Amino acid sequence: MEKKFNFLEERILKDGIVKEGNVLRVDSFLNHQLDVELLENIGKEFHKRFKSEKITKVLTVEASGIAIACFVAQKFKVPVVFAKKSKSINLSDDVYSAEVESFTHKTKNTVVVTKKYISKNDSVLVIDDFLANGAALQGLISILNQAGATVAGIGIAIEKGFQPGGQFIRNMGYHLESLAIVDSMEVEPKKINFRK
Ligand code: 5GP
Repeated sequence: MEKKFNFLEERILKDGIVKEGNVLRVDSFLNHQLDVELLENIGKEFHKRFKSEKITKVLTVEASGIAIACFVAQKFKVPVVFAKKSKSINLSDDVYSAEVESFTHKTKNTVVVTKKYISKNDSVLVIDDFLANGAALQGLISILNQAGATVAGIGIAIEKGFQPGGQFIRNMGYHLESLAIVDSMEVEPKKINFRK
């Protein structure tokens, strides 16, 4: 018989907490306390899904993408670069930058990557924990475009399929793989439905 849920969906059902405002909290295994074995499985799964692509670097954004990105990068044997959130208004010439509106905090951040860490010769796998409206991904894609690098693919742990980011990014033609796509969720009684 076919398994009903994959390992990440099972864990979300067990330990995820649905909050008001379309927020899913996964602090006990992915966003605060880290389940390293789960992260290892996420790394393996993304490697399986993207191994036919040429990957020279993994790019994510601080802070919650970093742990996942490290396990993915270990499988591909390439470095991780994480975009840093910067408050400085005067950015130096040696960085690529993009404006990103934070879904969870509703604030605007400038994210920056030092130019020497991404070049036009790079073929980059973009990794993040969540995809909601797609602002974080658009910021990272913009940084790769500024560098003249190739977007080899995009790997997301948890996509909220009822928000527009996933469709937007797929419509742009990118190879986007999400390990769990939440199609709907309810706070009380807790209910989380995944896309088949
Ligand atoms: P987007 O930019 O696609 O709107 O949102 C993606 C970013 O917001 C991710 O980097 C993630 O950190 C955060 N985020 C969006 N939705 C959620 C959510 O439901 N739960 C958590 N924990 N983070 C989220």
